[in-house]
Amino acid sequence: MNEKELLEQGYREYSGEKIDVFFKREICEHAAECVKGNGEVFDVERRPWIMADAADADEVAAIIDRCPSKALKYIKK
Ligand code: SF4
Repeated sequence: MNEKELLEQGYREYSGEKIDVFFKREICEHAAECVKGNGEVFDVERRPWIMADAADADEVAAIIDRCPSKALKYIKK
């Protein structure tokens, strides 16, 4: 899916230099794979709660691949 399609589906974009992260709150199952994966990138106490550049893009992608609900998606640049 491209950026436009994700935004049309209700995902919100968190841009980074090497990777853009997308999140759709409505389908998040709160499994916390993201937060457990890297608390610097994913921090629910912070705004914005996702900082795509806080870790290596490959690591961010690997964590997002473990999101069980597909509430998180990414596009590498
Ligand atoms: S891993 Fe996915 S489903 Fe789990 S809390 Fe994060 S965004 Fe939500």
